[in-house]
Amino acid sequence: MAAPTEFLTYIDSKADAFIQRLADAVAIQSVSGDAKRRGEVVRMAHWLDGQLKALGVETKLVDLGKHVMDGVELDLPPAILGSIGNDPKKKTVLIYGHFDVQPANKSDGWDTEPFELVIKENGQLVGRGSSDDKGPILGWLNVLEYHRDNQKPLPVNIKFCFEGMEESGSEGLDELVEKESKAGGYFEGVDCVCISDNYWLNDRTPVLTYGLRGLTYFKVTVSGPGRDLHSGVFGRTVHEPMTDLIHLMGRLVDQQGNILVPGVDEMVPPADDEEKAIYEALDYSISDVESAAGGQISLTSNKVDLLMGRMRNPSLSLHGIEGAFSEPGAKTVIPAKVSGKFSIRLVPPQTPEAVNPLVIEYLKSEFAKLNTKNRLEIEGLHGGKPWVADHKHWNFEAAKRATRSVYKQEPDLTREGGSIPVTLTFAESLGVNVLLLPMGRGDDGAHSTNEKLDRSNFIEGSKLLGSYLYELAAISK
Ligand SMILES: [Zn+2]
Repeated sequence: MAAPTEFLTYIDSKADAFIQRLADAVAIQSVSGDAKRRGEVVRMAHWLDGQLKALGVETKLVDLGKHVMDGVELDLPPAILGSIGNDPKKKTVLIYGHFDVQPANKSDGWDTEPFELVIKENGQLVGRGSSDDKGPILGWLNVLEYHRDNQKPLPVNIKFCFEGMEESGSEGLDELVEKESKAGGYFEGVDCVCISDNYWLNDRTPVLTYGLRGLTYFKVTVSGPGRDLHSGVFGRTVHEPMTDLIHLMGRLVDQQGNILVPGVDEMVPPADDEEKAIYEALDYSISDVESAAGGQISLTSNKVDLLMGRMRNPSLSLHGIEGAFSEPGAKTVIPAKVSGKFSIRLVPPQTPEAVNPLVIEYLKSEFAKLNTKNRLEIEGLHGGKPWVADHKHWNFEAAKRATRSVYKQEPDLTREGGSIPVTLTFAESLGVNVLLLPMGRGDDGAHSTNEKLDRSNFIEGSKLLGSYLYELAAISK
């Protein structure tokens, strides 16, 4: 059962208003990883809660307690639980999204102000959170608005779970999901889960995602001097923390992406020919990767190897050095304490519990080889297990039918390189099928500068979400 034609034309007719609502959402600087902007994340929760209520959703804001970030105790932003429809004859779908965003400053290299949505002539809607994950969340609001304005019942019952800490490890959410998944909890009766928080592989073929890599994130601190020193006075006189840290970080991964921590790459069994054939069939090329990356810099010219590198193999990336001199100019400082940040994307059967001890042991032994008198401290910042779902389940079948009807295309079935740890929590706590139904394209720059969502992805994507609900209602369990 396809979505009613009036639904599709309604979405088209309201496009400008929907884009304005996206601009309103982008303007709220809900950066969860920035303690100074915590109030903005809370403001975003209230804004979204107001939108949901206005569209007929019964909601509640859930206090998730406190946490410590950068040495400061902060209130976690509330999660939003919502419910609309309670017909026992209908299926119940649980929808997840997040209303926090990655940090963004114009000085990072944005062409425009990151928190002002810019509508470009080519149809791109540029702004932080446009694609990750405010656009997809608002896609659901667009679907609800049609049903409210036309007094149409929804084809399924919907429960919502929106959080404001996804970009900072979803703190507090696992406990909430586990609690509400128990008998008598808010999620009782949920038949399947739909997560709108990832992207197509390229800029032309819709995607359904059945796997995600996990993550384990480290902060490695080297310290020694009692304060920052002058290199003219202390250069070649003391052990310098930065020198030690650079050596250490240089021993984690090689130039071909091989992880140098013994035992980490080795945990993952190699792909057989049947599995390789899945990657060969995907509508994705080396040039897609390079255009999304903005440079001709792919690690290999072999498509299957490249896609497996992204989807089914682990990877280690160096992210930054806290405490290092990073301003313009030629300051001759010797930083007293520097922290290197890196993370490893995990795939089955890897878990943070299995990988972390190998990393810690390796860092300690490599640090010992440096013969330095500085101190080493290793912290795990956050992590999550990888996940794989059954892509032949009716939940996926409904999404395939919706994709065919809206995009006139067969979706690519993919495993995604990123991590959305709560996916696994939903799958394990509820014991139901979880689907990732992305809205944006592979080149949206979700965690990067000039993040965008194409207008057509926002509008057709809203139609896709609505169509998925109608297909869900029609399909037999
Ligand atoms: Zn996201």
